Amino acid sequence: MTRLAALTQDQLNTEVMHARARTRMGRLPDYVPLLAKANPDWIAVWVQPLHGPTCAAGDVHQPFVLMSVVKPLLLVFLLEQLGQRAVFAHVGMDPSDQSFHSLSQLRADQGFPRNPMINSGAIALADLLPGRDGTSRCETFRQWLNQISGSQLVLNEPVLASVRSLPNEANRAIAHLLAESGHLRSVEAALDTYNQICCLSGTVEDLAKLGVVLAGGVGKFKPQNSPLTPQNLRIVNALMLTCGLYEFSGRFAVRVGLPTKSGVSGAMLSVVPGQGAIACYSPAIDAAGNSVAGLYLLEQLAQTLNLSIFG
Ligand code: GLU
Repeated sequence: MTRLAALTQDQLNTEVMHARARTRMGRLPDYVPLLAKANPDWIAVWVQPLHGPTCAAGDVHQPFVLMSVVKPLLLVFLLEQLGQRAVFAHVGMDPSDQSFHSLSQLRADQGFPRNPMINSGAIALADLLPGRDGTSRCETFRQWLNQISGSQLVLNEPVLASVRSLPNEANRAIAHLLAESGHLRSVEAALDTYNQICCLSGTVEDLAKLGVVLAGGVGKFKPQNSPLTPQNLRIVNALMLTCGLYEFSGRFAVRVGLPTKSGVSGAMLSVVPGQGAIACYSPAIDAAGNSVAGLYLLEQLAQTLNLSIFG
């Protein structure tokens, strides 16, 4: 039995109870009006070992939009479709200590996005998705994700309308600089694609199923059935570990040691390579854009179960 599969339902219930007490330490993001309407007390976790029983606790039926948790999924899709050379011609592999929508980081890098886990990198990659417009690109991508993982992601149209209701000047400035430096074909199409894929929505169960694919398994959770190449999985996991939590990535790697991606919706996905995945949702976030209760919960689980990839 793997260390992840050793988790008991009682243990998880206790951890969620403690984590729920932390939700009030975060705040809801204010730049997407519908995200600001979430209940800050919500917390959900789904632990899916490759082999072994599922454990889940909290508000597990509450759907949420992926926001930046979509970034590693976008990366793996493009690596599978286009190959490493085409992808890394448009995005780097280095961590950043700036915030997720930093324009100064992109300027310092002469318009070449530093990594795929920050907005500049994901906007550049969104422009590489096949399809004639944001809607068809997002739909192709959504269907692929659901097909490889068995998840049931849908596009959350009200949240997308809410995203579109306020101008996102930071992302627009990033897109213009990317276009000027030759890393974007169309500012409008790239931003629209990026906004749409950020609004793909599911539950912690769906997110955990996607995480299981990144952990090396799918379907009946046999790693040899993985639809993804091992090399691409290694790349995505390495970038999640080094860049997935923005400027908090280094500390998180020391304290938790799991490839993880967060989103401003409060979604978090941790991959336990070769063992399974942990998906969390709790919408109150910290200044870096990471779920406060999600961070706490992942740290507790990683320490209790000794999950760090570094042993
Ligand atoms: N769509 C969000 C934005 O671009 C995603 C950021 C995040 O989830 O961290 O601001």
